[in-house]
Amino acid sequence: MIIAANWKAYVEDIERAKKLVATGKRLARGGIHQIIIAPPGIFLSLLASGNRSALAFAAQDVSHTTGGAQTGENTAQAYAAAGATFAIIGHSERRALGDTNAIVAEKLAHALAQGLTPILCIGERERDEESRYLSLLREELETAFAPLSAKERQRVVLAYEPIWAIGKGAADAMRPEELAEMVLYIRKVLAQFLPGKAATNARILYGGSVEPANIRALAAQSQVDGFLVGHASIDPPSFQSLAKALS
Ligand code: PEP
Repeated sequence: MIIAANWKAYVEDIERAKKLVATGKRLARGGIHQIIIAPPGIFLSLLASGNRSALAFAAQDVSHTTGGAQTGENTAQAYAAAGATFAIIGHSERRALGDTNAIVAEKLAHALAQGLTPILCIGERERDEESRYLSLLREELETAFAPLSAKERQRVVLAYEPIWAIGKGAADAMRPEELAEMVLYIRKVLAQFLPGKAATNARILYGGSVEPANIRALAAQSQVDGFLVGHASIDPPSFQSLAKALS
C-alpha cells in the first residue's frame, strides 16, 4: 500500500517538518508500505538531502513552464534536483486556482520528462443525479492520458479525490462500497489507454478525509492501492496510526 502525505501549507515550521520526516522514515523502514511525503516545496531540499531511507518525497505541484524568465515558478526539473521522485499533479486545490485539464496535461508531461512519477489527481466537485460526474472524471482522465506514450501511461499513479470529501472527518469521507465502484469505473476508463493487464495493475489511490478511523475499511473493501492523505498526515501520532491501521 502507498501512503502519500500531502502536507499542503499546513506545515510551516522546519522543526515540525523534520519530526514528521523522521516518523515517515520509521514507517517506511519495514517496506510494508510505500511512504511518500509531499512537503511545501521550500522545505524539500533540506528534508530530502542525503536521504538514504525508503521514504520518498513528492512535489505538491510543478510549474507548467520548463524554466527561464518565470518569477516564482518551481519547475519539475528543480523539484527533481531537490530530491523529489514523485509529483502531485492536478490537485483540486490547484485546479481551483486555474489549472485546466490542458494545463494539467502539460504539467504531467514535464514531470514525466524529468523522471518524476506523477500522482495525477482527479475528482468531481459534487454528485449529480444524472451521473454527469462520471463524464467529468472520464474527461479528466482522457485529456491527461491521451498525449502520453504507452510507457508514460504506465508510470502514472492516479489519485481519486472527490472534492466533496476533502478536508472533512472520517464520517464524511466516501463509503468503502462507493469507493469500490469508483475504482472499477476508473479502471474501465483506463482500459482505453492501458491495454491488457496494465489497467488492472494501474495504481489507484484514494484521497478525501482519510483518517485512522476509516483507512482500514476503505482499503479492505475496495481495490485501491493506497491513499493520498491531507490533514491526518501532519502530526506524527496520526501519521503513525494510519500506517498501523493498514498493517
Ligand atoms: C487532499 O486534499 O489531498 C486530501 C486528501 O485532504 P484531506 O485528507 O485533508 O481530506
